[in-house]
Amino acid sequence: MYFCGLMTIIGTDIQQAKIFLEQGNVVGIPTETVYGLAGNAFDIEAVTKIFEVKNRPTFDPLIVHTDSIERLSEFVQFIPEKALLLAQKFMPGPLTMLLPKHPSIPDLVTSGLDTVAVRIPNHPLTLELLRSLAFPLAAPSANPFGYISPTSAQHVAKQLGEKIPYILDGGECQIGLESTIIGFENEEVIVYRKGGLAIEEIEKVVGKVRVNSHSSSNPKAPGMLKSHYSPRKDLLIFRGEILEENKNKIGYLAFQKYNPELPRENQLILSESGDYKEAAKYLFAYMRQLDGMDIDKIYVELLPEKDLGRAINDRLKRAAVKA
Ligand code: AMP
Ligand code: MG
Repeated sequence: MYFCGLMTIIGTDIQQAKIFLEQGNVVGIPTETVYGLAGNAFDIEAVTKIFEVKNRPTFDPLIVHTDSIERLSEFVQFIPEKALLLAQKFMPGPLTMLLPKHPSIPDLVTSGLDTVAVRIPNHPLTLELLRSLAFPLAAPSANPFGYISPTSAQHVAKQLGEKIPYILDGGECQIGLESTIIGFENEEVIVYRKGGLAIEEIEKVVGKVRVNSHSSSNPKAPGMLKSHYSPRKDLLIFRGEILEENKNKIGYLAFQKYNPELPRENQLILSESGDYKEAAKYLFAYMRQLDGMDIDKIYVELLPEKDLGRAINDRLKRAAVKA
């Protein structure tokens, strides 16, 4: 069904990635948010492979990536005025917009919805790849469904390695959080998923936005994806005390300072200086690192609810929910 060779190539050869994609294969691609698992968005078979490789349910729609605002017209019906303003300001960048879908996009990509999620990723290799292709790329995050998103080519290789022929290596992701997803209803801008572009930045351009309280970003089944971005180990939100007696088996993800109750070797600090961008960049990599340590549980600190702290807290709370 999908590529099942023993060797996955990790490299920086755009031409090679292009050939695999033109053949209908799926390829790992770097973006500034997280790594994507990309396939030809116009090709149902390639899109089917994406869902299979990720083990992703088909009711969870994919984001379609292109390289310029002009090329959006290949797969959206029209761009509302506020969307254009935001596109001009934040694309390429960590912003995804839900726009009226053009028939060129198969229903499988959008899970039957009449909007398509579109993004222009801000990564030089992937932009060059997109420019060289005659089709846009459907690409969800390149992790098995439900697990922590990958922020390096090695993360992708570790989890999807044998299933895909090629991973384009663009180094570690500079933003490290998935894109912020917004939609438009009448004159209103609605945030469906908090992400790498702070809501405050969007509001500077279009004024007050509405934040969808489910923020599950799945309009058909809000809340169904609450348990997401999860490590294998139990992850708990730190509420002022560690309940477990054996403190040596507890990992800790802190914002700025070590927790004096716990051994330092089991702790990771997101940003000593309290920089939200730095914290976002390392969040997933540190969750993975803690997941691999010799500990039983991971406690995490929530950040102040502002700037990228809001998106980081969203991921931590979802990771903490156990089904
Ligand atoms: P991922 O690419 O893995 O970060 O996931 C993309 C997210 O975008 C999913 O959670 C989808 O539910 C959401 N999404 C994609 N297309 C749409 C759409 N047309 N309407 C609402 N949400 C969407
Ligand atoms: Mg994802």
